[in-house]
Amino acid sequence: MNLNKKNLKGLTLSEIQQFIASINEKTFRAGQIYAWIYHHNISSFDEMTNLSKSLRHKLNETATVNTLSPVRVAESKLSETKKFLFELSDQQYIETVFMPEYSRTTICLSSQVGCSMGCRFCATAGLGLRRNLETWEIVEQVLSIKRYTGEDVTNIVVMGMGEPLDNYDNVMKACTLLNAEDGPGISKRRIVISTCGIVPKIFQMADEYAHFKLAISLNAPSNEKRNQIMPINRHWALAELLNAARYYTNKSRHRVTFEYVLMDGFNDTEEDAELLKKLLKGLPCKINLIPYNEANREGKRPKKDNIERFYSYFKDYYSTVSIRWSKGTDIQAACGQLVAETEKKDQAV
Ligand code: SAH
Repeated sequence: MNLNKKNLKGLTLSEIQQFIASINEKTFRAGQIYAWIYHHNISSFDEMTNLSKSLRHKLNETATVNTLSPVRVAESKLSETKKFLFELSDQQYIETVFMPEYSRTTICLSSQVGCSMGCRFCATAGLGLRRNLETWEIVEQVLSIKRYTGEDVTNIVVMGMGEPLDNYDNVMKACTLLNAEDGPGISKRRIVISTCGIVPKIFQMADEYAHFKLAISLNAPSNEKRNQIMPINRHWALAELLNAARYYTNKSRHRVTFEYVLMDGFNDTEEDAELLKKLLKGLPCKINLIPYNEANREGKRPKKDNIERFYSYFKDYYSTVSIRWSKGTDIQAACGQLVAETEKKDQAV
């Protein structure tokens, strides 16, 4: 990568226009380049065949379109799920999960290298926060996987490594680029951003980006329990978090999804289910129960029967409660697990 050259991936159309003006070329060229990058997924100026040879030469001298290539692809034997490990230019690793099923193909994106939120059960938290991902690194996870698999992508969930609302500007810009009709064109209602609960940022997102969907990692039905596993709850407790969720619901006119990672003996009893129902009463929402993926951290996955029993406590709400059976347990598809494992191996060498 040449630091004197401008990387065009991650730029909006108007930013590409500014760049094009700065090298004394006609503005309409920016639209052509934008379409090559985001719609045709082409990263080499030489392949941008509607640009003149002299412009391509000039672009090669002044700009780049950065790419990421996977250094490892783990393929599940249980499903079509694939997990991609990318090495960034500063030798950091991130992971991205590709999940095709029936008519939808979902990509689970990372937003940061590591994470500072410190959730006790999460493998990424064990890495600490190394840095935010740049906009282009977020968008390129999708573009790179599209090139690798040749598949179209219909859904995005920002549920990989990192806390997306702790890297708000880059994540929102990336999602906007992924949504753009003249780019990858992923529907705004099929882009879900998941947060551990940074309350002021939820309000900001409600005011600025309520067209995207919001998921909130609840994981416990009371402050007493949530404080034990999610340090963020000491900043913004459940009442404030649910207020923000209500505000988001009103602004977006869509239900928020609450994620609830089921941990054996910690939050999977009938009493927990009753508390959870009471907590969310009157708030139109969805609940996604996630059986804990054991991640070398605190917590144990409940037995299958107990997971199903917990679900059965919600029988009056079945249309809005679901269990998210992991499709990649054999490839460490829980958030941050593959990177944690790769780094451990590297240290062992
Ligand atoms: N920081 C954001 C997004 C990344 S975590 C957030 O907290 O929402 C994405 C989801 O994975 C969250 O719901 C989180 O609670 C869950 N998760 C983290 N570690 C997990 C594990 N080991 N098993 C199952 N789910 C886990």
